[in-house]
Amino acid sequence: MNVCRRIPEIRDAVSSARGAGKTIGLVPTMGALHEGHFSLIRASTGQTDLTVVSIFVNPAQFGQGEDLQAYPRPEEQDLAACRDLGAAAVFLPSVDEMYPRRPETRVEVPALAGHLCGQSRPGHFGGVCLVVAKLFNIVGPDIAFFGRKDYQQVTIIRRMCEDLNFPVEIRTCPTIREEDGLARSSRNAYLTDRERSQAPGLYRALQETADRIRSDHPSGAEAQAFLAERIARYVPDGQIDYASVSSPQTLAEVDTTQGPVVLALAVRLGRARLIDNLLVD
Ligand code: AMP
Repeated sequence: MNVCRRIPEIRDAVSSARGAGKTIGLVPTMGALHEGHFSLIRASTGQTDLTVVSIFVNPAQFGQGEDLQAYPRPEEQDLAACRDLGAAAVFLPSVDEMYPRRPETRVEVPALAGHLCGQSRPGHFGGVCLVVAKLFNIVGPDIAFFGRKDYQQVTIIRRMCEDLNFPVEIRTCPTIREEDGLARSSRNAYLTDRERSQAPGLYRALQETADRIRSDHPSGAEAQAFLAERIARYVPDGQIDYASVSSPQTLAEVDTTQGPVVLALAVRLGRARLIDNLLVD
């Protein structure tokens, strides 16, 4: 497995494969890899000829007071996992390699970024789009793999690719959960035992809201109130950032739950800000 820290190295590592007509898969991550990331890497190795995993804790997507410094960076462990899973290359750039000077170019999808996480993390999705656009230009993948756990993120990236004609197909993979339902996240490591025992209540709240929608078709506002009430009941130490019932396409809150909706939440629990979502068709 090639471990590339410089942009020319990763370009070299993929160019001969591309020349030989092989398909290239990219799995962008911030490292601290877990089963959620593993499922994306497996999807890529199964569906493309050569898999590149990028590991980069992207400062541009962290706001003031967020966990940029504290974010876990277990490099050796991550490299071993990528090797075991059959990645051909890992791209592990430094901040200087990615941002040798302050970028003046913006890549924004404000109509989609204005909802959900965008409201409490201004600038976050601009940072995500910027780094993903750079990674696509650096690696040149045929297919890039993203998790549905970050529903808003993949919706925005898909739109960015369409609008800017990136020749990259976006494929999504289901959310991987712990046995008790908690979505796997590098940030789960921040939870105390007490918080960890409450955290599965987030998924339970999503599921019960989905059941309620399927049986009663409440209004969007009623469904949202129900979701918030369930979160407060099961995760009493949590502070709700948002609990939304939204359009799967526009991410705007819906008036009615007759059609497909996405239930999405962000909850601060101790040091962690946890997100999760559930699509109700
Ligand atoms: P991150 O390292 O958190 O930036 O995530 C990198 C990629 O892994 C993103 O596409 C995430 O959506 C995906 N991912 C993170 N957690 C999970 C999970 N529990 N299940 C599926 N995909 C995930």
